[in-house]
Amino acid sequence: LRVVVVGGGAAGMSAASRVKRLKPDAEVVVLERTRWVSFALCGIPYYIGCIVKHLDDLTAYPLEVFIKERGIDVRIKHEVLDVDASGKRLSVRDLEGGREYEIEYDYLVLATGARSRAPEIWPELRELENAFYVTHLDGAYVIRDYLVKLKSGSRIAIVGSGYVGIEMVEAAIEQGLKPVLIEAAPRLMPRVLDEEYSKILESYLAGKGVEILKGSPVKDLKYSNGRLKAIELESGEVEVDAAIFGVGVRPNTELAEKAGVKLGETGAVWTDEYMRTSDESIYSAGDNTQTTHLVTGKPTWFPFAQAANKMGFVAGTNIALGNAMKFPGVTGTSTLKVFDLVIAKTGLSLAEAQREGFNAVEVSISGGTKAHYMPGRKKIHLKVVADADTGRLLGATSMGESETAFWRVNVVASLLHKKATVEDLLFTDLGYAPPLAPVWDPLIIAARQLLRKVKAAKR
Ligand SMILES: Cc1cc2nc3c(=O)[nH]c(=O)nc-3n(C[C@H](O)[C@H](O)[C@H](O)COP(=O)(O)OP(=O)(O)OC[C@H]3O[C@@H](n4cnc5c(N)ncnc54)[C@H](O)[C@@H]3O)c2cc1C
Repeated sequence: LRVVVVGGGAAGMSAASRVKRLKPDAEVVVLERTRWVSFALCGIPYYIGCIVKHLDDLTAYPLEVFIKERGIDVRIKHEVLDVDASGKRLSVRDLEGGREYEIEYDYLVLATGARSRAPEIWPELRELENAFYVTHLDGAYVIRDYLVKLKSGSRIAIVGSGYVGIEMVEAAIEQGLKPVLIEAAPRLMPRVLDEEYSKILESYLAGKGVEILKGSPVKDLKYSNGRLKAIELESGEVEVDAAIFGVGVRPNTELAEKAGVKLGETGAVWTDEYMRTSDESIYSAGDNTQTTHLVTGKPTWFPFAQAANKMGFVAGTNIALGNAMKFPGVTGTSTLKVFDLVIAKTGLSLAEAQREGFNAVEVSISGGTKAHYMPGRKKIHLKVVADADTGRLLGATSMGESETAFWRVNVVASLLHKKATVEDLLFTDLGYAPPLAPVWDPLIIAARQLLRKVKAAKR
């Protein structure tokens, strides 16, 4: 049995390791076009901010572990150019030697990830020496190398206030630079936060010295001699010394299209619950792959590392054992820490739930993270959404200068996974000790209030 995996990221290496563990006799080949495997792209902002010293620190295991200890044939700097699905064959280029060759597979795993949208919108970004978008670890090296040479107080534009943009703001400040955060929408993190929470983030960032220009789409880039000079917004021109564009990603489906497998409604690769594509010999996992949203039951595209790892794990299990494990889908849990502010969300916001046709109600509370008499108590904000008709929980968002905002949202994520109700949340047996949580936890207070609202709004 020969299993070929394209992509050595979270999904690809999880799939490869799983096949090899369950079927040690299988020949497992990983083809990765960069020089990295099993890397954490999520760590890039912390590398750029010099919180993480070396790029190597961002890999989970050295290459030799996969090759020598796990017996996986990992070929770095090998790019897959084409897929002949009927012949079960790939065309590969060895990027170092320049040699091109073909390799046959019994099973293929497409784990090709996502790509940045920025160079598709502004192709000139590929050429400008002081304007960047985040791609991979080598790209992170180029960005950090440039930023550390800039004079302290230089002005850097961060375009886009999604997860990557906000993390880059912190990285820029760590580097002694003055960030100006540019967001086309009228509020920051528009896909994650509602108006009220967005304002909390905005004033927090403003307090850290971040200049914020929202509601101002980029109209044009002004550059000369290979250097970006200014960004022209609808509201005026912003002169900059450097810029990082974090305006989202899209699924890398090039090879899937060449293989002729079906793409889903979201534009990512369609698979069944076993991570098998429309071709029985081809599996797909990670950021290139569509999945199901467990709250709406609809197809979704959720390019996050925790889902990518699990999709790869499931694909590898099923190749080795013959479709023995299902990947159920995601509840869309995401989180972010910028300086000390933690933001976390799972499931749907009130507006999203209403758009989905739920008879949705929400409670919004602020509560303490510990017993009121304990030192170090912080305030967190919490919103929980439910369907008034069924009492089912639909989502939660929390933020505050405490990591506990994140665990509280994770509790709701577990409950969403099981399609639990507000009453289930109320009676979830959360632990209590004065230095760790108040006896009436903000989650439980929210559940009590939500239960009342659900009863009142039931149709
Ligand atoms: C800056 C940044 C911060 C992030 N932070 C978080 C976070 O905090 N939390 C979170 O959950 N997620 C985060 N993510 C997202 C997370 O990194 C991805 O969800 C995860 O990397 C997806 O893993 P993957 O294996 O699907 O794809 P990737 O990790 O993108 O791996 C795909 C690999 O396929 C290779 N490849 C593609 N085409 C070919 C080809 N033709 N031939 C050979 N190789 C090929 C690519 O070189 C790449 O190495 C972040 C992403 C970025 C960029």
